[in-house]
Amino acid sequence: MTYREHKILERSINVNGPEIKHTVAMEECAELIQAISKALRGQLDRDNLVEEIADVGICIDMLRLIYKINPDEIDRCRSKKIERQQWRDLHVRRNEDD
Ligand SMILES: [Mg+2]
Repeated sequence: MTYREHKILERSINVNGPEIKHTVAMEECAELIQAISKALRGQLDRDNLVEEIADVGICIDMLRLIYKINPDEIDRCRSKKIERQQWRDLHVRRNEDD
């Protein structure tokens, strides 16, 4: 997130209040779920999927600002989870080979 984006989102939280941002985050997650569901049913609207991913990303940035979560904290958590996913995928493959 750029400094300018940070300031815009921070102002938006202050203007609208953090409560509405939580509601919007839930709604945007629901919209992304719907876009994913449509894709799985063979009705992919790629532009819409991109838009919903972007919306959820913005909401995540807002939640990060509201709860003062440092991006490094999320990056560390993300890295751990990706490593864990790799371990699981390798483990599953090994079991399938047995
Ligand atoms: Mg949306």
